[in-house]
Amino acid sequence: MASYFDEHDCEPSDPDQEARTNMLLELARWMRGAGRWRQAPGVWSLFNSMDFEDLGLVVDWDHHLPPPAAKAVVENLPRTVIRGSQSELKCPVCLLEFEEEETAIEMPCHHFFHSNCILPWLSKTNSCPLCRHELPTDDDTYEEHRRDKARKQQQKHRLENLHGAMYT
Ligand SMILES: [Zn+2]
Ligand SMILES: [Zn+2]
Repeated sequence: MASYFDEHDCEPSDPDQEARTNMLLELARWMRGAGRWRQAPGVWSLFNSMDFEDLGLVVDWDHHLPPPAAKAVVENLPRTVIRGSQSELKCPVCLLEFEEEETAIEMPCHHFFHSNCILPWLSKTNSCPLCRHELPTDDDTYEEHRRDKARKQQQKHRLENLHGAMYT
């Protein structure tokens, strides 16, 4: 493996420091792999308190498929028995109309799906296939990213409002 300093094209000032950084990187990569960090959340939170962005270890969620929806959330999605006019609704995944008396799963965005169509989907990623409404996940790093994004969005809105108030 290329060392941190090779990758970042700079001279280590202190060989001990370099060895420590490499060891931490190795350990962090190992822990990320196969979800091992879940088994040692204490060590992981120590890692998270370090500056990972500098170490190039932050997952770029904007270019990754979001993780699966949280199991508990999926289990608690409302199941609705299709009646009357609802049977004209189509499941957006398989494009078949629902049969009367059939049970459909209703997402928080009020889109209906066959359970056989939506459950495998939600076990891969957390959003509605139709409108991308996101369900909570069990993935701490992703949830942190989401909170971050929401915060930045809010700041942007605040700045825009401020700008609007000053110049109109
Ligand atoms: Zn379907
Ligand atoms: Zn939806």
